[in-house]
Amino acid sequence: MSLCIRGVHLFPMDGSPDRPDATIVIDEGRVTAVGGEETVAPPGARVVAGKGLVSLPGLVNCHNHVAMTLLRGYGADLPLQRWLQERIWPAEACLDDDDVRAGAMLGCLEMLRGGITAFADMYDHTDAIADAVEWSGIRGVLSRGVVGLRPNWPAALAEGEALCRRARQSPSGRVTAMIAPHAEYTCPGAVWQEAIALARREGVPIHTHVSETLAENEGCRMRHGVSPVRFLEEVGALDAGCLLAHCVHLDAVDVRTLARPRIAVSHNPVSNAKLGSGIAPVVQLREAGALLGIGSDGAASTDFLGLWEELRLAAWMQKAVRRDAAALPCGALLRMATADGARALRLPEGCGTISAGAPADLILVEAEGLHQTPRTDPVAGLVYGTRDDDVVLTIVAGRIVMERGEFPGIDHQRVAADAAQRSRRLLEAV
Ligand SMILES: [Zn+2]
Repeated sequence: MSLCIRGVHLFPMDGSPDRPDATIVIDEGRVTAVGGEETVAPPGARVVAGKGLVSLPGLVNCHNHVAMTLLRGYGADLPLQRWLQERIWPAEACLDDDDVRAGAMLGCLEMLRGGITAFADMYDHTDAIADAVEWSGIRGVLSRGVVGLRPNWPAALAEGEALCRRARQSPSGRVTAMIAPHAEYTCPGAVWQEAIALARREGVPIHTHVSETLAENEGCRMRHGVSPVRFLEEVGALDAGCLLAHCVHLDAVDVRTLARPRIAVSHNPVSNAKLGSGIAPVVQLREAGALLGIGSDGAASTDFLGLWEELRLAAWMQKAVRRDAAALPCGALLRMATADGARALRLPEGCGTISAGAPADLILVEAEGLHQTPRTDPVAGLVYGTRDDDVVLTIVAGRIVMERGEFPGIDHQRVAADAAQRSRRLLEAV
């Protein structure tokens, strides 16, 4: 399918400036041309009128547990450890492949609705999640979460290895993999060694949770005499390449350590706020040169999977805690949500930008709604003023996967009803 979007306000995110009246040509999954009115469309291309719309690369959700849509809102207002031990883990123990497939499908559609074209995930039943990624049309960087305190951890690690094999054979190429020891506090050193060796054999990074709460940070210092970041360094995880979720409680040495190459941090502001975990030192990490993306975390801890709200909260929290309105400006947030997020997830070259030759992962966003008028500053308007349902078109690998709330070839009401029914049954059984 070829597409030609005309007259759109383009934010290419490739280092070049925004362009108010741009033409974008898409053919065979890639952006083939970006230019002005004179740009020629291939014969037979569908022409999309972009007037009044903004185009930017698809948003990248750097940390999720997508099937947790089934547990949306469950255990609200509990602190992290009680929330996990009393509510989430008992419920998750009852999930089967079909439940996870249904929850993941709902989560993938929710993300596409809000303009997310790629996400990183960590969970169990990863075959079912890979099915949902293939069916929905999104890109997924999946990993099998390994809880080393459970006796089945070697089997979980083997499932992680099988997931890497499946990713290499993904018919669409949209499924890739990482290896995911869950966290320092759930994985003894021997499990870390096995996981790191596997990641190195497979040539993929480690995806893990780091220093989410103060209790975790203090517990790690008691267990190992060092901070969680330093622990990861000592076991060799950082050298293997890492995607690190949360990083809320860091000392100055941790911040410098995380600025090294091959390390990316997923900042998850809504989850950190809702679970009372704290506010990550995003400004310090950026100043040190760390690569940062934005993540939603699972819907059980954030309630929704869109990124626009995350961007706003990320900005507000940094500005408020630092008493500095200039902290974490909107242009930086837009880069974190697109180009930087794509690098954090090691997506194919060019993802996170709209440029000739790049994979066509992009969105069109309504920019003339009541709540967006007048647009006195296009970037601020986009970051502080966009809602999920302002996204009118989501394109992944050159294919339209969401258009004005509909998903071509997918009955989204049926997907939602199936997930809701499975959630009800699950919570009755816990
Ligand atoms: Zn998480």
